[in-house]
Amino acid sequence: MNFILINWVKYYTKETFKTLKLVTIGSAIIITMVCIKYKPAYKVTISGETIGFVYNEEIIKAKIDKYINDTTGNIAFREIKELPEYELQLVNRDKEFEEKKVMLAIKDLTTTTYKTYAITSDGEQKAVVSTQEEAENIINQIKENLNENVDLKLGIADVYSTEYKVNSLDEAKTILNDLKTNKVTEYENKKAEEIRIAKAAMEAQKAKFSISKSIATTAQTPATGNLSGMPLCTPVNGSVSSRFGSRSGSRSTAHTGLDISTSNGTGIRTISQGTVTYAGYKGSYGNLIIVNHGNGIESYYAHCSAIYVTAGQSVDSTTTIGAVGSTGNSTGPHLHLEIRINGTPVNPQNYLY
Ligand SMILES: [Zn+2]
Repeated sequence: MNFILINWVKYYTKETFKTLKLVTIGSAIIITMVCIKYKPAYKVTISGETIGFVYNEEIIKAKIDKYINDTTGNIAFREIKELPEYELQLVNRDKEFEEKKVMLAIKDLTTTTYKTYAITSDGEQKAVVSTQEEAENIINQIKENLNENVDLKLGIADVYSTEYKVNSLDEAKTILNDLKTNKVTEYENKKAEEIRIAKAAMEAQKAKFSISKSIATTAQTPATGNLSGMPLCTPVNGSVSSRFGSRSGSRSTAHTGLDISTSNGTGIRTISQGTVTYAGYKGSYGNLIIVNHGNGIESYYAHCSAIYVTAGQSVDSTTTIGAVGSTGNSTGPHLHLEIRINGTPVNPQNYLY
């Protein structure tokens, strides 16, 4: 019995080993076949889109991290909208790993912001350089030997941009030197213009002075009225002592003229240009001068102490024709001025005084 049992166990053990051996060999064959055909790889995807296959997840992650956090040179910072995802897969053995392709895709999806330094004039960017030190050096060079009245209002501004654009040092210097030259020229032109204006104002002041001087010397008898378009001047300065038409005093008839009271001997001028038609003594008028101005207009100057003109003489308002007196029917020195139009006396105060 024991023998049978032992033989039975032996038989089955042998069979089991046989099966195991077959399974092991079979598995090995399958694994070998798989390994011959396939290899493991990490599929890298962003937003569900495959960007490539890599051998090692950690290595590519470290590379991407280094790229995104790079702040060398003028890089201020980098941004990527989304980080990639990784999935382990079996791929055909002959498929190449694509680390470079993945990095190119990452660079494409990354925005780089650069920090540069703008040299500004009155708040306006003139040139951009890569370091603050360069900007300061250029500003100091431009300010050298600059006229103290010319202020370029230079400053430095931080510029953040996704495009890396800077001027070369020589280019920046040229731009700012041109600016300096323009500003200096502008200042000099302005200065010259100011001098020109000041000179012109001085000349104008001089001219004004000489004009007012000439007015003072020539305009001794300014026209103060007009009669039918004929300019009239006052024959004497004085106060009105008797008006036209008055019947006061010893008069029996209305006053035919205007009495202007002033001191004896005061020069009398004619009211306008004309021709002397009478120069002599005439009754109550005393010494009388009559001037005909044409168009039926005549003027009478009575009670004169002296007569300086003769009949037929041409006179104008600069001619002194006689002197104030009290000849004829008069109670004191005054000028009796009479203006007649077509022989009829009119009120001189319609035109003068
Ligand atoms: Zn009178």
